[in-house]
Amino acid sequence: MLKFADYDIVFQEVPGEVTLALNISNCPNNCPGCHSAYLMNDVGMPLTEAALDDLFGKYGKSITCVCFMGGDREPHEIQKLALYVKQHTKCKTAWYSGRDQLPMNFSVQCFDFLKLGPYKEEFGGLDSLSTNQHFYRVSTDGSLEDWTYKFQKKQQI
Ligand code: SF4
Repeated sequence: MLKFADYDIVFQEVPGEVTLALNISNCPNNCPGCHSAYLMNDVGMPLTEAALDDLFGKYGKSITCVCFMGGDREPHEIQKLALYVKQHTKCKTAWYSGRDQLPMNFSVQCFDFLKLGPYKEEFGGLDSLSTNQHFYRVSTDGSLEDWTYKFQKKQQI
């Protein structure tokens, strides 16, 4: 079962959106130099439709996007929850995966945004010009438009 260790309302993880970011635990990726080592443990509350309803009750009027941060152990559960968000709210959906590739038999249509790639300390995060990670806007036809540059604008000026 997916669990989330904590959450926050953030402005930088998804460009142009006020995002409820859910930090999902039990991460299988073991990135050397992990920036959030506590997320490698099986900790937190079950991430269920009821938990999402509870969060929407508290923050639904303030947010424009829900971002699932992690969940690579159960990507199809992430897909189901993203679909639930789409069907029950007007929020956009995003997924931050630590994998380079999308899982097999995975539909991107439940998402508006995707981040792919493990964290590699030597290359930095999305705001680093040398990052190995990519942030994508999912187009209506399911194609992926690379928006990584939006995180790097400050460095390019
Ligand atoms: S994907 Fe994120 S939480 Fe998981 S090991 Fe890598 S940096 Fe840490």
